[in-house]
Amino acid sequence: MPYTEDTLEALRKSSPAQDEFFQAVAEVLHSLRPLLDASPRYRAHRIIERIVEPERQIFFRVAWVDDEGTVQVNKGYRVQFSSTLGPYKGGIRFHPGVNAGIVKFLGFEQIFKNALTGLALGGGKGGANFNPKGRSDNEIMRFCQSFMTELYRHVGPTVDVPAGDIGVGTREIGYLYGQYKRITGSFDGVLTGKGLAWGGSLGRKEATGYGSVYFAEEMLNARGEGLEGKTCIVSGSGNVALHTVEQLQKMGARVVAVSDSGGTVHHEEGVDLELLKEVKQVNRGRLEEYASEQSDARFIPLSEYPEGGHAIWAIPCDAAFPSATQNELTLSDARTLLENGCQCVCEGANMPATPDAVGYLAESRIAYGPGKAANAGGVATSQLEMSQNASMRQWSMDEVDRRLREIMKGIHETVSEAAEEFGASGNLVHGANIAGFRKVADAMIDQGVV
Ligand code: NDP
Repeated sequence: MPYTEDTLEALRKSSPAQDEFFQAVAEVLHSLRPLLDASPRYRAHRIIERIVEPERQIFFRVAWVDDEGTVQVNKGYRVQFSSTLGPYKGGIRFHPGVNAGIVKFLGFEQIFKNALTGLALGGGKGGANFNPKGRSDNEIMRFCQSFMTELYRHVGPTVDVPAGDIGVGTREIGYLYGQYKRITGSFDGVLTGKGLAWGGSLGRKEATGYGSVYFAEEMLNARGEGLEGKTCIVSGSGNVALHTVEQLQKMGARVVAVSDSGGTVHHEEGVDLELLKEVKQVNRGRLEEYASEQSDARFIPLSEYPEGGHAIWAIPCDAAFPSATQNELTLSDARTLLENGCQCVCEGANMPATPDAVGYLAESRIAYGPGKAANAGGVATSQLEMSQNASMRQWSMDEVDRRLREIMKGIHETVSEAAEEFGASGNLVHGANIAGFRKVADAMIDQGVV
């Protein structure tokens, strides 16, 4: 059995029932085969066996009291995967589906994504199986305070710097930060995605979505094309999706569909971003409400689509931006997209495509940007926030945006060159996995067996 399959098999036995984690590891190991054949030193140093094992995993109880006075208990996680290139860095997710396997898959992906940014960032991820939907601000605050009452021991501005993810935005980061400060008495840059008045960076909340659009533009420019005038669809309607829509519109593209966990809105005239933000960000409402305000928009509820939220992928487009969650785009969705003329798929979300869809898209001739590369703008801008905190200065939006654009251009070059070097020209999945891994693996060898 090849070395990579051996390692995967051993992992399945030692950490059972972590499907998303195995999926993420299998994809990376598959891409690495030519590199491992060309450079036996990675095997000699047992880099693969070491890199799939987190340096540290913290699982903890989060007990809190809801508005009715009932005690609630959730599971909290922080997986500190790799500190090879810098402090652990990666978001916190609050979603009922969070478990150890999900946090490990996200943490594993984060190692390579962070390496691709070219910045000093290790990889980590955290979260809780807490559902913020329908909870009052006071409940969210009490939950965040309880979560941080354990987490504060394990984080610090040069140790581990969490950020937001699904279910964790500026409100949650605020409550987490307040509790950290209360316990430690220290105004540290321990979280990113902070409010602008208390250490946040201009451009951080926009960064993942904007960065994904910049990455798509780089992919298309390499083919002598661009996003201007293109018809686009964006799944999700959270932080990443909304800012993807915003940047696409700035660049002259027309976004005709968005979605949420209840269904899809198809608005052929072009999505009204102001209304979308009002519904999803200000009112924290459902996408249906958007369609009820716009007579020419159609809402397709999940119930009309037995396979889940896949209705969006059947809407014809030139470019698709999966920006909601993992495994939201299947092989059949990918085929439908390409049959309908889609020329570009750029992943704002983490691992949004199933393994067979990844294989199909990577082998197709379209521009396909894997999340590890395409959504790295968020974490890169988090590092810009850390730099500003360390120097106690704040840069302008233009300055942050200029740096973000340069970083996304650099990532596109790095992953394209790595793909080319290993005979997989244009396959940015292989390029991202190889380039990210090689940087971390070489540094691990430099740092000895730790
Ligand atoms: P948000 O919580 O702001 O938004 C998530 C969106 O996805 C919501 O519209 C939500 O619908 C939808 N969604 C969540 N779960 C499902 C599901 N099971 N089926 C269908 N729709 C779903 O999260 P973000 O925008 O921050 O994150 C989106 C993705 O981007 C995630 O994969 C995240 O890991 C990734 N990412 C985020 C970064 C960031 O900076 N925030 C950085 C890099 C990657 P509803 O409104 O109904 O809940």
